[in-house]
Amino acid sequence: MTDLVLSESLAAARTRLADALDAAGRPADAARLLAVSKTKPAAMIREAWHLGQREFGENYVQEALDKQAELADLDPIVWHFIGPLQSNKTRDVAEHFAWVHSVDREKIARRLNDQRPEALGPLDVCLQVNISDEASKSGVSLEALPALAEAVQAMPHLRLRGLMAIPAPAEGLNAQRAPFARLREALEDLHERLPEAPLDTLSMGMSADLEAAVLEGATLVRLGTAIFGERTARD
Ligand SMILES: *Cc1c(COP(=O)(O)O)cnc(C)c1O
Repeated sequence: MTDLVLSESLAAARTRLADALDAAGRPADAARLLAVSKTKPAAMIREAWHLGQREFGENYVQEALDKQAELADLDPIVWHFIGPLQSNKTRDVAEHFAWVHSVDREKIARRLNDQRPEALGPLDVCLQVNISDEASKSGVSLEALPALAEAVQAMPHLRLRGLMAIPAPAEGLNAQRAPFARLREALEDLHERLPEAPLDTLSMGMSADLEAAVLEGATLVRLGTAIFGERTARD
């Protein structure tokens, strides 16, 4: 990473999101920025927080818990878990995060629901959809999505907020838009099936495809590299 100045990269990311919303003819507050801080030190999160960023996304449970402990004085701060979630980590996530974007099977949802501490209120959940088949092994298929959504909507300690996807990398705006359009249509379908669910979130768009996601209705864009610079370890 070469001389990243966080105040500049964060300002540039905000401008980029504002420009994308403007180009899409959407209101300036129609999507917000989730700062993906995986592999980055707590000190960078603290700096971003002091620059006004409040929502952070983490992928690795133990790494996230360590950083949360170090940053316990920051209030308010909203932690989103966005990485693959194994059964043996659900308790930590249920106890230490406000949001989970990567729920893709009922067993994980059930454990999060059972393990969510009453005092924290419901856990906000997005279902991760495998929208371009080969992109990632994670994610529920579009075929299995309605049944999973119905099951999650019935769990009292989870709040079904929407859908998340990580499409296969694609070049060009139109190619990038296609999977995001499918995710938007899947959310519209769920709205009809589950009118009582608080479905207001499309978690889509990363550093390489933010503009395409915003054109298709993203409400939460997950930016890592564009804010914190290239990652070296692990990813
Ligand atoms: C790492 C990651 C991001 C951020 O990716 P960038 O390309 O660095 O913006 C977003 N979403 C998920 C699920 C991630 O794992």
